[in-house]
Formats: sequence, structure tokens, C-alpha cells
Amino acid sequence: MTKKRDSILHIGFDDTDSLSGSCTTHIATKIIHRISEEVEFLDYPRLIRNNPNVPWKTRGNGAIAFTLGLKNENIENVFSTASQIIEDLHQKDPNTNPGLVAVKNHIPNEIKQFSINALKDVISINKAKAIARKFCSYHFTIGNGRGLIGAIAAIGNNLNPEKEDFSYELLSYRSPEYIGKKRQVSSESVRKMDKQLSPHVFNNIDEESGKILITPAGKDPVLYGIRGETPEVLLEAFDLVHVSEPVESFCIFRTNQGTDQHFNYSDSMIRNFSVYKGEIEVIEKPRILLGGHTIFNASTVKDNKIIDVAAFEPSKKFREVVRKLLPGDRIMAYGGIKYKQEYQKFTIQLEKCEVVHISEQFKEESPFCPNCSKRMISAGKNKGYKCRKCGHKDRNITKLRVPIIRNLTRGLYIPPAQAQRHLVKPFRRYNLSKKDNVNFVENWYKILSKTQ
Ligand SMILES: [Zn+2]
Repeated sequence: MTKKRDSILHIGFDDTDSLSGSCTTHIATKIIHRISEEVEFLDYPRLIRNNPNVPWKTRGNGAIAFTLGLKNENIENVFSTASQIIEDLHQKDPNTNPGLVAVKNHIPNEIKQFSINALKDVISINKAKAIARKFCSYHFTIGNGRGLIGAIAAIGNNLNPEKEDFSYELLSYRSPEYIGKKRQVSSESVRKMDKQLSPHVFNNIDEESGKILITPAGKDPVLYGIRGETPEVLLEAFDLVHVSEPVESFCIFRTNQGTDQHFNYSDSMIRNFSVYKGEIEVIEKPRILLGGHTIFNASTVKDNKIIDVAAFEPSKKFREVVRKLLPGDRIMAYGGIKYKQEYQKFTIQLEKCEVVHISEQFKEESPFCPNCSKRMISAGKNKGYKCRKCGHKDRNITKLRVPIIRNLTRGLYIPPAQAQRHLVKPFRRYNLSKKDNVNFVENWYKILSKTQ
């Protein structure tokens, strides 16, 4: 489908959904369907996950961007079609504040920098509005316009294959009459698909609980989402997963999910709601809190700041590793920072960690008798030790300092898939070779049943 084009238009939008329904990726497929006659898609639609620690995020803090080739005379129409669809389909809710922006041709460096900040920090709506006014050809908001933040960030984060890691997700959507009902997806087929296509698909199944993860809970229009390395493997997965309800449509997105992109740009500065990556030293033995969360006190290696470090209950076996840490151990901590007003303290909420140094730990034990090698017992305070077998006494003999064998290995630890944030790189993706191009497949998006 080669079309004549005079311009490239980058469109980004965010914050069209809420916990009670709708979904930004679904709105994306509606827009794609409506504008596909007028434009050429120069990239897959991108699903960009931003800083997961911002407190007002939509479910996964995910925004959408399109890179389109089109004729100049169609630009305005394409933008107004997109804004009309967002106006009509966004979740009408005071906490849903959609934003839509468009940039022509070259993406300014200010927008690229904005995208990097959005991965790891909190950005104000005013900052986003200023960028939109200055660098975007068009912008459109509803409510307070918070969605502008993700919208601009998605445009600037173009997942350039030469620089960035990326993955794909195929999202399929339900027929409207099924929304809210139980999803009819065969778990058995998902297990088979995962086994057959591993390691080129990921996070379909939770490795600890065996739970199927491709189907969301709740009332949104997503039937399931499959994550993987190439569009081809996702189309294969689509054929392997059996469903017993109509699939309205599907669409493949290119995404920063499973890439650690937020950690690649983060640092070891302590800022509320930011993404943290830095080495820390354990100060005290971890404590288990009510509800199963594990928490310990630590200091940052770089600047000796005292912080709490937490591994939450959903991270399951990951906590068992954290519980084995002892004072003097050092880990590379990867996570999000929250300031706790009541303790006036920052907490790093761990998303993964690498044990880099295991400290030597000792315990004290009674000495052995120099005559008969039996273990001696205390002869009283400051009176040394005596042997019960041969009667030998020694005032000056001291306790033995015995090294404790640490049941902990250096290396990387990641919570199970079920507890992972979208951006976190799972083990399965660690040994894959880097992708150096974006390969367009014919059927990257398809309407399967006419519904409206
Ligand atoms: Zn003895």
C-alpha cells in the first residue's frame, strides 16, 4: 500500500481509560481503522509505558503514538478524526483526562528529552502544556489535560531499533455484547502456545502460580494481550490461542514493555515517585510486616542516604531472597521511590535486584577441649571454659568465631511475571539477540467481526 505522501505526522494520546472501562489501545484501533485510507503507517502503533510510580496513572501508565505518512491536505482531517473518536469513546470520569498531540515531520529534541523524563520522573501538566504549545502543531485536551504528558512522551519515544530494545504486543478485542462477561479463552491453549513459542513470547503465564496472564480482569474491551519478540510470532500465537467468543479485532503494537527502558535512563538520586537504580548496603536484617511485605533499612553506596527498601507480598518468592539479606550485604536495587510522610522516610519499592556482595557473617561458639576435643562449657562469667569429659579447665581460652554459611547466591532476582510492572525485563528476554529493524507484516491489524 504505497501512497503518495508529503509529510510525516506523529500523533500521541493518553489517559482515555479508567479502572471502570474503556482502553487506550482499543481507541487506538478505532482511530487506525478510520484513518487507514488516508495515511500510510510508517511504524506499528507504539504502546509506550511511562514511569509506573506516578500516583495518578491509569492502569499501566501506557500511552499510544502513531507515525504516519500522509498528504498535507489530509493532516487536519486526520487530527480531527482522532480527536473526535477520543471525544466520543473516552471514559467519562473525573479521573480520566485525555490529551492528544500531533507533531509534523522532525521530532524536536525537547520532546525526546521530555520522553526520557516521563520514563523515570513525575512531570507537571503545566510543563506538558508548555511543550504542547511550543512544539506541537496541534493539541487537544479534555478535563485537566493530564493525558498530554503521556501523549507527548509517546511521540518522543520512538523506540529507534539502533538505540532501544523493544517488544511487541498483540491485543485482541471483544465484541461489545460480551464486555463485562467472563472471557472465554482456553487456558490449555495458552499453555501450549507458550511452550511452543518460548522464548519468543513472554509473560503469558505466571511461573510460580501457573496463572494465565494474557487475559485482563474487568470490564475493558481487551480479550487478551500476547507479548513477544516479533509480529510473526504473535500472529502464530493468535492462531494457537483458542477462544469461544467472537473476536472483534486485533492489533499489534510496538512497545517498550519488558525492556527495562525506565531503568536504562534512571539514576540513584532519591526523589519521590521516581525510578531508582543504584547500589545500596543493607543496615539491618529484613523484617516481615503484617500482610507479608518484607522491609529493611539500607544506605545508598554513592551518598550514604538512609532509606527503607521494600519487597511487597505479590512478589512472592522474590521476598525469600530479600529476607536472606544481612547487614553488610550490597545489592543493585531497581525500583520506584515513595516518600512516607508518617515516617518522614523514603522507601524503594523493589522491582528487581542484583545481589552484588555477600558479607562475611560469624557466629560465636564454645571452644573445643585441647585434651580430648570435646566441646567445652562455660565455667561461669569471666572464668573461661571447662571440659565435662576430662575435667580440663582453662581461664584464658576464648569463644570460637565461626563463619556462617550464607544460603544466598550473587546474581539477578526478579519477581514472578504476575507481580512485574509492564516495563520490567523478564528473565526470558535476557539472552535474546538484539533486534536491529522493524519488520512490517501484512496483517498487523484486522477487523474480524463487524460490530458497528
Ligand atoms: Zn577434655
